[in-house]
Amino acid sequence: MKITILGSCAGTEPMPGRHHSSFTIEHNGSLFWIDAGEGCTYTAHLRGIDLLSTRAIFISHPHIDHIEGLPHLISILEKLNSRADPTSTVLTGKTIDVYFPDLEVWEAIMKMNKYTFPAYDNNNIEYKPTCYKDGIIFDEKGLKITAMHNFHMGKPQKGKPWLSYSYRIEADGKCFVYSGDLGDPEDVDPLFDSCDLLFMEAGHFQVDKVCRYLKDTKKSFKQLGMIHNGREVLADAQGELQKGRDILGDKVFIAEDEMVFNL
Ligand SMILES: [Zn+2]
Repeated sequence: MKITILGSCAGTEPMPGRHHSSFTIEHNGSLFWIDAGEGCTYTAHLRGIDLLSTRAIFISHPHIDHIEGLPHLISILEKLNSRADPTSTVLTGKTIDVYFPDLEVWEAIMKMNKYTFPAYDNNNIEYKPTCYKDGIIFDEKGLKITAMHNFHMGKPQKGKPWLSYSYRIEADGKCFVYSGDLGDPEDVDPLFDSCDLLFMEAGHFQVDKVCRYLKDTKKSFKQLGMIHNGREVLADAQGELQKGRDILGDKVFIAEDEMVFNL
């Protein structure tokens, strides 16, 4: 699977060369979106990613820095689809699955798009939204995604769903873990066995706190990318990276927009 980071910073004020959280997975000819922060469509398009091969969209939680690019993505998919050569229109009659922990927010986005882009109703793309829970939420053509709630948005009221999740993503015998936003670094524990690539957020914690936790709990991973980087980390990214490497060595890096990983 090919992973492209489209946005590597937290929901801070704008940061030069960095956008809010999003990345894509390309696998077996299908495209998957994990979160959809600002400019995700723009960056993916510039990277030559085939937007019309979109199969599913996964939203870790409904905070704006993870969904602000979603209305635009949906709008661009409609436009590209309506302009595509009918013989090559990948999405005609197809469904895009949307995994979203809060369907009210999803419905609000769709409503907004309908008001701002009236042609939206005349499309061939059907969206199938799912309010997912803990466990395997997607398993198709060798790509498996397991979700586990975390405490970033607190514990839900009785009878209400969890609103924030982390993911474990497996394909072709490789695996990576995406923390999403966390309440605490230990929130990812249930998703850990070992992994090739671990993306941990550094918007709510400093890099050294995350690295210290992973070292103390003897987590097994080949590479650790700090994503969702906050302003404190980005103010001295080199210094923060060094602090992380002092604890875990060269396998630590600070993620940047447009980084690509082939697992
Ligand atoms: Zn965030």
